Amino acid sequence: MTPGAHAATSGTRPSVGGDVHGEGPALDAIVEAGRGGVDPDVDADEETTQLAAGASHGTRRTDAGAFVFPDPDEPPYETRPRASRGDDVPLLRNDQLARIFYEIGDMMELKGENPFKASAYRRAAEALAHAQFDVATAYRERKPPPIPGVGKAIDEKLAELADTGRLRFYERLRREVPPTLVALLDVPGLGPRTVRELHDRLGITTLAGLEAAARGGHLRGLRGMGQRTEERVLAGLAAMERRRVRIRLDAAAEVVERVVSAVRRTSGLRSIVPAGSFRRRRETIGDIDLLAESADPPALIERFSSLPAVEHVIARGSHKAAVELMRGPQVDLMIMPPGRAGTYLVHFTGSAEHNVRLRGIARDRGWSLSEHGFARLGEDGEPLEGDEAELRTFASEEEVYDFLGLPFIPPELREDRGEIEAAQAGRLPHLVELSDLQGDCHTHSDWSDGHYTIEEMAETGRRRGYAYQVLTDHSVSLTIAHGLSVERVEQQRAIIARLNERFAHEEADGRAPEGSHPDGFRLLHGCEMEIRSDGRLDYDDDLLARFDVVVASLHVGRRQPRTQLMERLMTALRNPYVDIIAHPSGRKIGIRDDLDLDWDEVYATAARTGTLLEINGSDERLDLDDRRARRARDAGCRLVVDSDAHYLHEFDNIVWGVGLARRAWIEPRDIANTMPRDELLAWCAGKVDRVRR
Ligand SMILES: [Zn+2]
Ligand SMILES: [Zn+2]
Repeated sequence: MTPGAHAATSGTRPSVGGDVHGEGPALDAIVEAGRGGVDPDVDADEETTQLAAGASHGTRRTDAGAFVFPDPDEPPYETRPRASRGDDVPLLRNDQLARIFYEIGDMMELKGENPFKASAYRRAAEALAHAQFDVATAYRERKPPPIPGVGKAIDEKLAELADTGRLRFYERLRREVPPTLVALLDVPGLGPRTVRELHDRLGITTLAGLEAAARGGHLRGLRGMGQRTEERVLAGLAAMERRRVRIRLDAAAEVVERVVSAVRRTSGLRSIVPAGSFRRRRETIGDIDLLAESADPPALIERFSSLPAVEHVIARGSHKAAVELMRGPQVDLMIMPPGRAGTYLVHFTGSAEHNVRLRGIARDRGWSLSEHGFARLGEDGEPLEGDEAELRTFASEEEVYDFLGLPFIPPELREDRGEIEAAQAGRLPHLVELSDLQGDCHTHSDWSDGHYTIEEMAETGRRRGYAYQVLTDHSVSLTIAHGLSVERVEQQRAIIARLNERFAHEEADGRAPEGSHPDGFRLLHGCEMEIRSDGRLDYDDDLLARFDVVVASLHVGRRQPRTQLMERLMTALRNPYVDIIAHPSGRKIGIRDDLDLDWDEVYATAARTGTLLEINGSDERLDLDDRRARRARDAGCRLVVDSDAHYLHEFDNIVWGVGLARRAWIEPRDIANTMPRDELLAWCAGKVDRVRR
């Protein structure tokens, strides 16, 4: 194998201009295992790996850097060495297996296969990287425990890898898809179809090649591409350089969950909690910070640094370690002396600016504050030393803030955006909590672009303890999301009525599921109505008036000039039946920018008409963002916090919405879906009068 081939087959997505690192040991094992022979055997997966332009790839591959891959059919599958026959076959570690499946996912996406299939492979890879047992060994012993996300197709592939150390399916893909092509998927705005087009038409296989082509004006002229595309590509490449890897909240939560559960049973461990920007619920997370209390630090450091999901260890000391996870962020672990967590938590949670303020307050009181505790200052303003030295430590953050003469400041506020002054004046907000929410006003079913039935969605909402859930499938003009025709709206209304009848019966009979809301649960009929690019609303007023709650959105014509966008939004805000503006800025984090709006005008009109502005909890939207949500509230707007769930598990998005609301200093009374069902419905019904006033 050439060094070039090695670098090109990185398991980790490379950053632009940076080194491509993290070569896959699995690949060595596989390459070593591949020797001589021809095999006519073709398994069922072969059909799905035929690329339309597959024939041309044989020559391109050589141009792209003379990759040397094992021949998937040599030696013949039937005769190759197998552990099950007592042959000496290298045993693949979990991280090596994970790499293979990550790569399969990427390559399938580039081949234009069903995206669900590609993401199934990535999910399996994720599970393998974090599995708590040795997967290949378990397969060799023929008793693998169930692995989340591993169905029959992947199960068979794992069995082949465990037994032969190789995988024909993977090796065939590798011969078809130039590996550097996979890295192009990371460029914001470049989808698999475009990457394929760039490859097939221009022979672009690397980020450098892409940049050169965009600068040279070679992309214009390709199907659907123009000068704008070139500008977007260059902006995307620049953004990648700036951004390094910041992950979204949901992904960060998963990493925290997995790392914590993997080290949970280490001897001496008493507690382990996330700190840093994740605890503050910032919208994206760079590094993840974990703080642990342990009576046996070396054991914890050892366990943490040798987790299978670790790509490499960045630093390792007696009480701290930093690692980079495979395809994941950097995770820093800090071990605190037992019983002294207070100042550590404060230090590793607050933003730099917040911490500077706290240190200033401590200094004014004669103490130097660090993560280790408060050190008494001498006359000279330096911490006292020797016999005079005095260190105050605390078990909890409450005690730390109390020592500074402050009430406890919730983590989400620790940004130096006025929280210190508010704390000193006793005016900290009473922040909204998840349990304050009585319902969710934005959810989808498989009638439009959701993935579960109306009933499945409603049962999930009911079991979460909500008093209501608004079903908001898309409206007719959003054909890409299977928007509902007027007839379908009527059919849906009947189904919802029948469901609610059943819920009412069950509640009357005391048969409501455990955890149901004491006031009972009702599915409310709503829609996510498109504000069309010509400025008209998607349904007429007669129909809108018949919904319980109308959510309006702007998904199309996003690049119109400000005056036009504002006109469209104003039409919705002033409509007597539009109750909520969903994801008002329209951004997707790291993917696309905000709409160009006159925000003060939006807030003023929303406040005057009592139109609710949404905090959309989907972690790729988080829209309104925390600054805008705060401004909107200050301008007199009322908000809603929603999940925008398209899947059952996405009801949990609401957690991120609540985190954002807390960062925006929002209190329960600012949020409409903290109201009981009747009050919410009355608020929506009242818009007709508010608009006419
Ligand atoms: Zn939407
Ligand atoms: Zn939606």
